[in-house]
Amino acid sequence: MKNIIFFGPPGAGKGTQAKKISEYLNISHLSTGDILRKKLLDKDDLAKELKSIMSSGNLVSDEILNSIVSLRLKNETNNGFILDGYPRTLAQSEFLNNFLIQSSISINFIFNIELNFKTLKERILKRSSEESRDDDKIDVIETRYNEYLNSTEKVSNFYRENKSSIFHEIDGSQQIQEITEKIKEIIKK
Ligand code: AMP
Repeated sequence: MKNIIFFGPPGAGKGTQAKKISEYLNISHLSTGDILRKKLLDKDDLAKELKSIMSSGNLVSDEILNSIVSLRLKNETNNGFILDGYPRTLAQSEFLNNFLIQSSISINFIFNIELNFKTLKERILKRSSEESRDDDKIDVIETRYNEYLNSTEKVSNFYRENKSSIFHEIDGSQQIQEITEKIKEIIKK
C-alpha cells in the first residue's frame, strides 16, 4: 500500500502529477481543492462562505479541512491514497499525524514540487484561460502564493527536517512527462 503527500506552491503542477500517479498506482487521489470546488456547486450557506474565501485566495478553516479529509481517509483508502493540497497548515499536519497514528497508517512518500514565482504566475494565468477558475486571477494569485509562504511552506519544511528519508524534492520546471517519470522511479525503489 502506498500513501503519498504532494506539496508545492499553487501552479507548480502537483494536481497534474498527483492525478497521473494515482492512476498509475490505482489509488485514491484526494485533492482538497477539487473536493471544495465540488462543494461550491451545492449553493447552500456553507458553499457561499467557501466561495468567498476561495475566490479571494485565502485558506478555508482547518476544522472544515480536517473533517473532509478524515472522512475521506476513513472511507476510501484501503489501497492507498495521495493527498494533494493537504495538509496546508501546521494545525492540519498535527491533526493528520494523530489521525494516521490512531488508524495505524503511515506515509511512504512525500514529494515537494518547487517552482519560482515568475513561472508559477505565467502557468496559473494560462490555466485561468483554460479552466476559468475564480482564484486564477492575477491579484488573487499573490494572496494564494503568500498563504503558501506563510503557512504551507512551514509544513513542507517540517516534513523535510523530520521525515527526510521519505521526502523528495522535485524540480517543477521540467516537462510534465519528465516529472512523472522521476516520481515513478522513486516510487518503484
Ligand atoms: P487548490 O486547488 O489546492 O489550489 O485549492 C484551491 C483553494 O481551496 C485554496 O486556495 C484554498 O482556499 C482552498 N483549500 C484547498 N485545500 C485547502 C487546505 N488544505 N486548507 C485550507 N484551504 C484549502
